Amino acid sequence: MRYEEIVHRCFRCGYCKLAGDYSDFNCPAYRKFMFETYSPGGRMWLIRAWLNGDIKNSERFQEILYSCATCANCVEHCVFTFSEDLVNIFIAAREELVSTGIIPPPVRDYFKNISISGNPYKEPAEKRGQWAEGSLVEEYKDQEYLFYIGDVGSYDERGKKIAKAVGNLLIKAGLSIGILANKEMCDGNEVKVLGEAGLFEYLAEGNISLFKEKGIKKIITLDPHSFNAFKNDYPEFGGVFEVYHYTQIMAPLMESGKVPLKDLTLRVTYHDPCYLGRHNGEYDAPRRILQSIPGIDFIEMEQSRDNAFCCGGGGGNFFTDILGGGEESPNRIRVKQSLQTGASIIAVACPQCAKMLDDAVKVEELEDKVEVLDIAEIVGRAMA
Ligand code: SF4
Ligand code: SF4
Repeated sequence: MRYEEIVHRCFRCGYCKLAGDYSDFNCPAYRKFMFETYSPGGRMWLIRAWLNGDIKNSERFQEILYSCATCANCVEHCVFTFSEDLVNIFIAAREELVSTGIIPPPVRDYFKNISISGNPYKEPAEKRGQWAEGSLVEEYKDQEYLFYIGDVGSYDERGKKIAKAVGNLLIKAGLSIGILANKEMCDGNEVKVLGEAGLFEYLAEGNISLFKEKGIKKIITLDPHSFNAFKNDYPEFGGVFEVYHYTQIMAPLMESGKVPLKDLTLRVTYHDPCYLGRHNGEYDAPRRILQSIPGIDFIEMEQSRDNAFCCGGGGGNFFTDILGGGEESPNRIRVKQSLQTGASIIAVACPQCAKMLDDAVKVEELEDKVEVLDIAEIVGRAMA
């Protein structure tokens, strides 16, 4: 296994499962199960035992490996020099498990659906661009930017609304964008983190040749997960593009006053998506947009920026649900953390976070207290 030579360096000191100020547990898998083996350090020791042949592949072992949300809190807070490889080590262990062919059924089904249908929803490709009907967004011809949507924005009902809100906002701000509609392919970020390196390579190469064939040089993504794959993984396969998350393009436009807005007297907090924040260091752009809306009272959650608590959807858990629900599920904890700010809106910048937190608001029966909205939807309200 890749990284095998560093797995033994973990001291099991446990700093990695905490927030930066040690005030709370911040590894969503540990927080949910409260067993050391689900913590980053515990997971390291479990992988070591597996590689040494001390334990065998079992359903329990698989559950522990796949309950990691790849949120990178441990990367941020492990005090040792190998810290930046922690998530890579967990992904490498999944790759090793995938190569044995004995993996959890939801993970197997995810790979199968991507291979057969091109998306996890088992929907035909013809439906991929349907979200754009009735929006201002058109198909890509020779526009300046490709607006890349991803599977959740293309097929999930909540995701489709967010895709429309972001697309309309980008056009109203004067940007030249186009979508690939039915020709868009899965970006593969979740395929990679679930451990199917071969399928990821196939998707990356397919996307790269499609982008090159269309003459695409600049990409704006809806979803931080796609942003992460294009920015950090595609260059390895020869796909070097100018890649932006939509908040990065919108922040300076909003601050310049290019988009006329009315007052919104609302208290708003913001949930950092792990694949925009910790994985890619973008904490400011979404906040700059929110703070450019007149009347908004912006308030931070106690655990924010590099200390943000993950919604639990990362690492493929949005699709496989191996981390699972229940009172201590990360999305429910995160919604309760947001309530402490007194905000009536939880702003998000990721369709996966939106859906995870929406579900938690419903289960907690908090619909009359707090609403989950993408930043583009909040801007849309201020433009109305
Ligand atoms: S991963 Fe790092 S912080 Fe976590 S237990 Fe191991 S050495 Fe300690
Ligand atoms: S990446 Fe997140 S969920 Fe996974 S072990 Fe690290 S802190 Fe826990």
